[in-house]
Amino acid sequence: MSDCLFCKIAANQIPVKRLDEDDLSLAFADINPQAPKHLLVIPKAHYATAADAPAELLGALLAKAAALGERELPNGYRIVINTRDDGGQTVHHLHLHLLGGRHMGWPPG
Ligand code: 5GP
Repeated sequence: MSDCLFCKIAANQIPVKRLDEDDLSLAFADINPQAPKHLLVIPKAHYATAADAPAELLGALLAKAAALGERELPNGYRIVINTRDDGGQTVHHLHLHLLGGRHMGWPPG
């Protein structure tokens, strides 16, 4: 989508430090980190929410986030997908948050 921020990041039109990339996905640091380490994993293709994306892609994105968590955050991490307004989603291009580097509280706010 031409006006989608994460589509522009995926297409290299907005520069980010690309921490991991393959044909399907890209991982980069969140601009406003909510934990000492806060990465975003996005599909390169545009899907507004997890409910819109094919199951195989969701599996690949989750596996990518978990692999990054294992690599970067051996003491543990949290993977989050905020969905639409009540879920706290502000960028309407599917993304997985990978958070860690501190103890993550529960329940989330
Ligand atoms: P959401 O609130 O939709 O679950 O998450 C969107 C995330 O995107 C937020 O954590 C926000 O800080 C991050 N974000 C928004 N704009 C940018 C940007 O231009 N660059 C990066 N790296 N992260 C962004």
